[in-house]
Amino acid sequence: MNILIIGSSAAGISAASVIREQNKDCSITIVCEEDRLSYYRYRILECLLDGKKCSELYFKNNDFFKSNNIELILNKVAVGLDTRRKRVKLNDDTYLGFDKLLIATGASFKLPEIKGANKKNVISLRKMSDVEAFQSAQAIAKSIFLVGEELFLSKLALRFASPDTEIFLLTKNSEILSVLSETEKIRFINDDAIVEIIGEGEVQAVKLASGKVFACSLLVFTGLCEPNFKFVKDSPIEIDEGILVDEFMATSVPGIFAAGDVARIKNEPSFNFSWQRAESQGHIAGVNMIKE
Ligand SMILES: Cc1cc2nc3c(=O)[nH]c(=O)nc-3n(C[C@H](O)[C@H](O)[C@H](O)COP(=O)(O)OP(=O)(O)OC[C@H]3O[C@@H](n4cnc5c(N)ncnc54)[C@H](O)[C@@H]3O)c2cc1C
Repeated sequence: MNILIIGSSAAGISAASVIREQNKDCSITIVCEEDRLSYYRYRILECLLDGKKCSELYFKNNDFFKSNNIELILNKVAVGLDTRRKRVKLNDDTYLGFDKLLIATGASFKLPEIKGANKKNVISLRKMSDVEAFQSAQAIAKSIFLVGEELFLSKLALRFASPDTEIFLLTKNSEILSVLSETEKIRFINDDAIVEIIGEGEVQAVKLASGKVFACSLLVFTGLCEPNFKFVKDSPIEIDEGILVDEFMATSVPGIFAAGDVARIKNEPSFNFSWQRAESQGHIAGVNMIKE
């Protein structure tokens, strides 16, 4: 049996592990858009706040893939799914066939639809590459704009405000504001919103609804995430806010499963994004994928 898994994080790795534990013969291939080994995504801020190295967050090393005979293909994106011919199209125009497929592509931060949001150094903090983009922009930034309601913004403000770097915090979250005091280097912006991101190629300033313009060379948005199911949109797989699955993590198309942040169990009132949920769904999917 030929098993293909898209996504090499909590759900994908958990599925691959249980599949190999229970079936020594099937072939397992994992494809992932990211360019590095699987890491604890929920700990990425430790690299910014506590000086951790990315490699310290890896939860599976090369030995795991080698000793379990799992082929890991990094830096490739699934861009299409042909359910009839049972194959996934990758961004280099190659195809990978499968007998059973697991979609474990997680979620991505949804950048707001603001003019200029695609400029360099306008980032979210979801992937290790976002952390690296933050680190390199921050090293030379005179001002950093932090936007959103996540509590960790207060920690970022405290960590990166310095005599050379001014932090602007645009939030409605009173809990964030209550743990910070406004200083010359940490400034709060209330009752306003970014309407335009200005700059040639990279962000140089933001324009607010109030008409004020602030210089900034790094703009961090936090907040809304959305499941990554773009590559299956033209397939018959049933989707609403996520890929719809039953209690076995099976999608509406036989032989195709989904687990983790990308999946939504039918009739689940609301779904939250969680590492543990992704791991346990990956496990359930894996067990069911190798059943006849
Ligand atoms: C900053 C932060 C803090 C968090 N804190 C917590 C916490 O405290 N507790 C908690 O439970 N959870 C937390 N989470 C959420 C948790 O990390 C996620 O719920 C978990 O990572 C979901 O795992 P997953 O395997 O479903 O997907 P993901 O971890 O999102 O991994 C999906 C992988 O698939 C890849 N991929 C996507 N699309 C494609 C494609 N088309 N082709 C190939 N590869 C693709 C992605 O690049 C990614 O590597 C946090 C997340 C973040 C970002």
